[in-house]
Amino acid sequence: MISDMAFSFLGTGSVKAAPVYGCDCIACQRALSNQTYRRQAACGVLEVNGVRFLIDAGYLGLEEKFPPGSLDAVLLTHFHMDHVQGLFPIRWGMGESIPVFSPDDPHGCDDLFKYPGIFDFSKKSLPFEPFHFKGIKITPVPLVHSKLTMGYIVEFNGKRLAYLCDSGVLRRDVEVLLKEHPLDLLILDCDQPPQEKAPRNHNDLTRALDVYKSIQPKQLLLTHISHHLDEYFITHPDCLPDGVAIGLDSQTWTI
Ligand SMILES: [Zn+2]
Ligand SMILES: [Zn+2]
Ligand SMILES: [Zn+2]
Repeated sequence: MISDMAFSFLGTGSVKAAPVYGCDCIACQRALSNQTYRRQAACGVLEVNGVRFLIDAGYLGLEEKFPPGSLDAVLLTHFHMDHVQGLFPIRWGMGESIPVFSPDDPHGCDDLFKYPGIFDFSKKSLPFEPFHFKGIKITPVPLVHSKLTMGYIVEFNGKRLAYLCDSGVLRRDVEVLLKEHPLDLLILDCDQPPQEKAPRNHNDLTRALDVYKSIQPKQLLLTHISHHLDEYFITHPDCLPDGVAIGLDSQTWTI
C-alpha cells in the first residue's frame, strides 16, 4: 500500500547539537567520526499526496537538495535563526514564488520580510485556525517558547501528524486538542536529558515522555536534540519506551 504521508528529517539538532565546535564529549566525538550522528538545525520534509512541504528551514544546503519547482510550500514554526537560516541562500533565486506559512510575528528574522526574494511571507498561521493547502488540512497550534511559535497538525485521508518544535510544556488547550484526535505520528521538541525543573523553552526527556503518555500518539519522534541529550542516550541505551524513537537526520517515516 502506498502511504499517504512521508516525513523525512533533514535536521534534528538544537543550536548545541553534536558535533559542537571544540567539544570532546562522547556524543560530539561520535558525530565527528560517523556522519550518521551529525545533526543539522531543525528541518523536515513532509510529502502528502504528491505535495511537498518543507517544515522549518534550519538545514544548510537546501538550495542543492531542492531544485526550483520542487517545493510547494514552507511551514515555519518561528523566526529563530536555527529554523530559517536555510532560506537565506534561496531567496535571491529565480522561478515561481514559494508560499511560506508562518506565525504573525512582526519582527521575523533579520531582513527576510524586507527582502523576501522568491518567498511569499503573506500567509499567516493563526492559532487554532485551520487552513487548507491543495486539499490538505493544516491546523497551527500555539507553543510555549521564547518567540511567537506555532506547531502544525497536518491531516489527510484520515492520517494525522503533528510537528511541535520548539516547545516548552504544552498549553492545556493544545494538549486537549491533541488528545481528542489521535495522532499517527508526533514529532516533538526534546532538547535536554532529564532535569529536575522543566526547562522554559524546550522539553527535557522527562517532559517529552510525559507528553507521550498523555497524548498517546502511535509513534513519537524526538527532535531538536542537544549533544548533552545524545550523550545521555549513549550512556542510557534503554531509556525509551516502545513507540518512542530518537530522530536522526536523513530518516524517513511513513504513515
Ligand atoms: Zn559535546
Ligand atoms: Zn527557537
Ligand atoms: Zn530551535
